Amino acid sequence: MSREQAKPHASRILAPTPETYRAAADLLQAGEVVAFPTETVYGLGADATNDRAAARIFETKGRPSFNPLIVHFEHLEAAAREVEVNPWAEALAKAFWPGPLTMVLPRRDDSRISLLCSAGLPTLAVRVPRHEIGQSLLRAAQRPLAAPSANASGKISPTSAAHVAASLGDRVPMILDGGDCEVGLESTVIDLSGSQPVILRPGGITRSQLESVLGSVEEAGAGSDIKSPGMMTSHYAPSLPIRLGATDVEANEALLAFGPDPIKGAAITENLSPNGDLAEAAANLFNLLHSLDREKLAGIAVMPVPQKGLGIAINDRLVRAAAPRD
Ligand code: AMP
Ligand code: MG
Repeated sequence: MSREQAKPHASRILAPTPETYRAAADLLQAGEVVAFPTETVYGLGADATNDRAAARIFETKGRPSFNPLIVHFEHLEAAAREVEVNPWAEALAKAFWPGPLTMVLPRRDDSRISLLCSAGLPTLAVRVPRHEIGQSLLRAAQRPLAAPSANASGKISPTSAAHVAASLGDRVPMILDGGDCEVGLESTVIDLSGSQPVILRPGGITRSQLESVLGSVEEAGAGSDIKSPGMMTSHYAPSLPIRLGATDVEANEALLAFGPDPIKGAAITENLSPNGDLAEAAANLFNLLHSLDREKLAGIAVMPVPQKGLGIAINDRLVRAAAPRD
């Protein structure tokens, strides 16, 4: 039975106690999602090192595309295990972590974080939250947690456990209740992976606070030539051309298959999900695109993926990957 047909969980709003942290950690270690408060808004957390758990976030939110996810850590040292920390990041961490600041940094080659959290980008957004419940949950789970805002896609960000329950209640096995969020505004996102720092999203830490540490900082947005990550088509694209909706395949093509009957005859074949399970396909998508992207082949043929549930986000990403390159 696919996840979409699985019975919804009854919502469980729980006060933080040693027992609830242990139960939450068990759920997270098993690849489930847990909603929890941070000082900004409530997050929908999952094990960032587990592809299936990251896919579960998109499934739970009903996101029609794979936006990159912010990954939460206990402290800077834990984040530095996964991303390249540069002097800007060190200075900002010293000034504003733990707190409502997210930094986009290059992934380390040996990062254990799911590629789904980066949505195929070579970067990862990292944050150390200040809220006691977020901190305690990270310690209990003993792993980084990917956590976008805990609302259904397209709905406003939740600042109380009741908001989460109203938006996602029957789809989340546990909501840790920390009352109302202190900041109530999302974290500021700053990109430190390029030649100069750029604010990608305004939030809990202001531009002038950032400038007090870094000197002048650019802001992406209207009038700026800095594109939001979803627009950076080329970043998501493998180097080989992509051919969608394939029903046949050439001998010099790689095949990205879906379902129990992969087309025969490709130079190399990987299957997103032999059972036709969309959550499994989402979890495998970026890893398999990388592994099929081999120089001597003519292209990657992709079998059709059903346009429903997580298939919508998978197809959105595949269409971007197949778009004409600049
Ligand atoms: P939310 O999912 O609501 O917490 O929002 C996350 C924000 O962080 C979105 O605006 C994303 O586009 C941004 N973001 C996350 N990861 C990256 C990344 N690797 N590069 C650029 N922006 C990112
Ligand atoms: Mg959001």
